[in-house]
Amino acid sequence: MKRIAILGSTGSIGTQALEVIKANPDSFELEVITAHSNADLLIAQALAFKPNVVVIAREDLYEQVRDALQHEDIKVYAGANALNSVVEMSTVDMVLTAMVGYAGLQPTIRAIQAGKQIALANKETLVVAGQLITELAREKGVNIYPVDSEHSAIFQCLAGEFHNPIEKIILTASGGPFRGRKAEELRLVTKAQALKHPNWDMGAKITIDSASLMNKGLEVIEAKWLFGLRNDQIEVVVHPQSIIHSLVQFEDGSIKAQLGLPDMKLPIQYALGYPQRLKSDFPRFNFLDYPQLTFEQPDLKTFRNLQLAYNAMEQGGNMPCILNAANEVAVSAFLRDEVGFLEMSDIIESCMAKVMYIANPSYNDYVDTDREARLRALELVK
Ligand code: NDP
Ligand code: MG
Repeated sequence: MKRIAILGSTGSIGTQALEVIKANPDSFELEVITAHSNADLLIAQALAFKPNVVVIAREDLYEQVRDALQHEDIKVYAGANALNSVVEMSTVDMVLTAMVGYAGLQPTIRAIQAGKQIALANKETLVVAGQLITELAREKGVNIYPVDSEHSAIFQCLAGEFHNPIEKIILTASGGPFRGRKAEELRLVTKAQALKHPNWDMGAKITIDSASLMNKGLEVIEAKWLFGLRNDQIEVVVHPQSIIHSLVQFEDGSIKAQLGLPDMKLPIQYALGYPQRLKSDFPRFNFLDYPQLTFEQPDLKTFRNLQLAYNAMEQGGNMPCILNAANEVAVSAFLRDEVGFLEMSDIIESCMAKVMYIANPSYNDYVDTDREARLRALELVK
């Protein structure tokens, strides 16, 4: 029995993780669930799953959650600090980081410090502070199991290969809803168009990141830290069907890939259940339904965010933290119809040029960089 804490149980990954846990009652016990503002869903999940602890990050919603659960044997806490404390509980074996954005950094650090195994969905954490996180995990003997489908694919390809050096990895990208379009056509695309992903049903932030290819840029940086790769060992290929989830090439030239229908429940279950492959009834892939699997070069000129992410990775230090903070501000402004689709890249590029560069940042430097980059990005939104 693995005892699981889910940070962000009300989101796309969080709710799918609950389905996985429900389908495998002999393997998992739900210990903690947390949400930010969706108190109603958090309460419903608590009543259905009876975890020992729930946390609502927004303190103004504490009483609503507490009152709704007063007849249950469930502890209720509120606030960002409570997130940091619950991941340290002795009754938790593994923390699934399924919250979105920079807010995941601190609880992830606290969970690793407490020696908890990590199932990592919150890629922003590794983008912002990959070096700090991976060094801390090594020091504490903590494994980080990827939930992101591409990284799960690579992790699955590496099973039994841990002593064989990787020549390169190839991350596949769907290309998003605007694949093949040129910059002039992207200038006026709407939020509604950007939110329609062809293959995946995800939270709003990652869906916009997928449309702008920033998601693939974040994933390149995530892969660098997860698998200890040099920058020149990570390639991206556009594969619109999202059937091949990613590939690894070894030094003998052999390539291994992991395939399946686009369904996040499989990588979530693999991360939670590792090293076991738990039996599932997820729909099976049939080659005859997909007689053509196709591949293209990503268009870095039109989708500038991917190029900006490569640049940030190349520069290292706090640059990926600047990229991430500016992107979070730009995406939320786009979702409020305050900036256009292409302006998101302008904001990120400007922040990368203007926010102070730090080659060897400490944790406090990341906190300051995130704050400064957000302020600058917000000024550009106005
Ligand atoms: P959602 O927006 O669907 O869910 C986000 C979750 O985080 C919600 O539970 C939300 O709470 C909570 N949350 C948001 N802000 C805060 C905060 N400041 N403090 C605490 N909790 C917060 O996102 P997704 O599930 O799509 O994505 C989660 C992470 O997983 C992201 O980092 C994403 O990049 C990654 N990922 C997602 C994939 C997917 O298929 N969705 C695929 C691969 C990676 P509430 O709803 O209550 O406000
Ligand atoms: Mg992914």
